[in-house]
Amino acid sequence: MKILVLEGDGIGPDIVAAAVEVVKAADRRFNLGLELEVADSGLSSLEKNGSTLPEETWGKILAADGVILGPCHTAIYPAPEEGGINPSARLRTGLDLYANIRPSKIRPGVAAHVKEMDLIIARENTEGFYADRNMHQGSGEFMPTEDMVLAIRKITRRGSEQIARQACELATKRRGLLSIVHKANVMKVSDGFFVDICKEVADDYKLEVDEYLVDAMAALLVRKPDYFDVIVTTNMFGDIISDLAAELSGGLGLGPSVNAGDKYAMAQAAHGSAPDIAGQNIANPTAMILSAGMLLDTLGSRLSRPELLEAAKQIDEAIDAQLNEKNGRTPDLGGHIGTDAFGAGVAEKVRGGT
Ligand code: NAD
Repeated sequence: MKILVLEGDGIGPDIVAAAVEVVKAADRRFNLGLELEVADSGLSSLEKNGSTLPEETWGKILAADGVILGPCHTAIYPAPEEGGINPSARLRTGLDLYANIRPSKIRPGVAAHVKEMDLIIARENTEGFYADRNMHQGSGEFMPTEDMVLAIRKITRRGSEQIARQACELATKRRGLLSIVHKANVMKVSDGFFVDICKEVADDYKLEVDEYLVDAMAALLVRKPDYFDVIVTTNMFGDIISDLAAELSGGLGLGPSVNAGDKYAMAQAAHGSAPDIAGQNIANPTAMILSAGMLLDTLGSRLSRPELLEAAKQIDEAIDAQLNEKNGRTPDLGGHIGTDAFGAGVAEKVRGGT
């Protein structure tokens, strides 16, 4: 089984190296038969190949069973015609990775900003407010005059149904509560459409369903995070509230995600390339490692391979063991060890060392 690794920018190469070390440890322990290959991506590839996502890499992506993508410093990428292709956007839309699944839970022993939380945000991943990728051709953002800019938001029945179904499946396996997050009091047509479709899909399941305006949800996540189980929402709202949930659980470095479609899947931490701490070996690789674990879990469910599911479970448990070890944490969580030492510690635990 081929896993293609794209390191990204900033802290990307460091946290991806940690994740790869852990995945290799899982591969050896559970005989997963993984072949990991690193391909060019990001700013280093722009310098080398003239593109942050060269065609050769795209060909390798299409041939892989799964992708591990490090965060990319997209804010400083040049225009696409100058080689600045956003890998995350291209993978999500090009591979129809319509669901971005972002869990947030409080890990034992980690100081969080709230007492209890164990929820999953199911974020629509290919349309919404993301004007750089929500049009078949051209951009959803344009400037008719020098004093005016317009941006188009896209909500489709297909995109809404797909994410709603994923969310309902998740809720069915968990506590059975689906919370729809939107802004239909203002965007009555577009978010009203999204909410109606989510409810239609939820009618096929035995779930408790409620709904919240996104601004209220920002407050409720702080006030009663333990209440929520699975939250389904549109692209940008999901991006924003998942950073909030990750930070409430202890820090952005703890927030993993998997991007999944019917055919492809990609592991990607919820956070960005953290240029402020890049190159210092202090980034927390937890989110990236857990994302790689989620990728193995997704592939395991899809291919009915229990050893992949077991590997994902072990990775999750090894993270908890590492976080609770004396001096087992990176500086963002009050510890003193480096990104590489954290990754090595988790890999050792996955190998069965402790
Ligand atoms: P960010 O998520 O990179 O960083 C926000 C804050 O969280 C920073 O203080 C950073 O040091 C900290 N942080 C993030 N991840 C951490 C980790 N693993 N360990 C410890 N601390 C961590 O957000 P930003 O600074 O707004 O964005 C930086 C770049 O990342 C921008 O170019 C942005 O476009 C890009 N970005 C990329 C992705 C992606 O590739 N998936 C997602 C979000 C932002």
